[in-house]
Amino acid sequence: MNVLVINAGSSSLKYQLINVETHEVRARGICEKVGYEDSFHKHGFGENEVVNHVHMANHTEAIHQVLVCLTSGPNKAVDSLDAIDAVGHRIVQGGSYFDHSVRINDDVIEKISELTELAPLHNGAALMGIEACMSQMPGKPEVAVFDSAFFQTLPPTAYIYPIPYEYYEKYQIRRYGAHGTSHRYVAIQAAKFLGKPLEELQLITCHLGNGCSMSAIDHGVAVDTSMGLTPLDGLMMGTRCGAIDPAIVTFIEDHEDLSPQAMNDLMNKKSGLLGISGISNDMRSIDEAAQAGNERAHLACDMYAYSAKKYIGQYLAVMGGADAIILTAGVGENSASIREKIFSGLDTLGIELDLELNQARGGEREISTPHSQVRILVIPTNEEYMIAHDTYDVLKANI
Ligand code: ADP
Repeated sequence: MNVLVINAGSSSLKYQLINVETHEVRARGICEKVGYEDSFHKHGFGENEVVNHVHMANHTEAIHQVLVCLTSGPNKAVDSLDAIDAVGHRIVQGGSYFDHSVRINDDVIEKISELTELAPLHNGAALMGIEACMSQMPGKPEVAVFDSAFFQTLPPTAYIYPIPYEYYEKYQIRRYGAHGTSHRYVAIQAAKFLGKPLEELQLITCHLGNGCSMSAIDHGVAVDTSMGLTPLDGLMMGTRCGAIDPAIVTFIEDHEDLSPQAMNDLMNKKSGLLGISGISNDMRSIDEAAQAGNERAHLACDMYAYSAKKYIGQYLAVMGGADAIILTAGVGENSASIREKIFSGLDTLGIELDLELNQARGGEREISTPHSQVRILVIPTNEEYMIAHDTYDVLKANI
């Protein structure tokens, strides 16, 4: 089965065409700056990547561009749209409605639309992607895969915020979590790597990229996660501050005369690694600057690692231990120096990083010492594959 995986952002649209049985990625690409004059479309891999500077006024035009490139021209992946069996959409916010992936119908669209208030940019874009696919591939089965679904198993002690309870009842303000597709994928892969059923393992999964989140997965069930009502909560990230003293919000709004929207932008787009280093939100640039002696870049790296270290402590306490800690995403998979900072001094907790293995590169691998009671694994994430696989499962089971 060939599944077209769509990940629609407010001004971008990423896609992959994946053969679920063979795991082969038959095509991939991204439409960027959708809705702007200078929009462009990258399609293909490595040397075969082509960039088309084509105006795409909206997601409908972006999907049209994608479908044309998938089915015609020198880099086509299939002969016609008939060879695309289904479409899987990444949806950030499924609220309390969805605890698993579902086939898209009018009711599902209505609920995703209703939840737009909780994730305005993300759910709004996903809806545009769904509508564009429906209009250009009428009748093609489409499946919604929710980032929040994996965390619907959290107990109320973990998902209710300690504010007046009426706001949970009135507005459904609670922890929903995000990156669930990534956490679920790496947990499944980690269980295979360790040769044990997921239901017998206690795992701490760390998705450390530009966006960062961690979760505690107790015998296959997510029991806590760091992202909250929105993806702003939890760890320090590339441009997001993560959890801070909430009183800072009103303090800065008052002293800088900022509107709530401007404050929201400050916390989402100007904080984190970028806000501290003043250089970039990209770990590679910050790491280089830190090595060249830039003190704020150094502080940003230390804070990013410290934030992850603290969550390891929390989740060890939440589960009463762990069998393994899994690292994934851009920084988790690639930055030996951040991993070293995160795990330094944890030997007394039975967590021992092997400094040599930590330097090695590659795919799924173990980087703890043979004596470490808690094993440390690097598992490259693959959210697109998980979405394609879910799409296949949902259609097979006719859920
Ligand atoms: P997201 O999907 O959240 O946008 P990614 O998972 O792609 O983010 O991670 C992006 C981050 O990973 C960036 O900060 C980037 O600098 C970092 N990164 C990627 N490769 C490396 C590397 N080799 N060393 C250090 N950091 C890296």
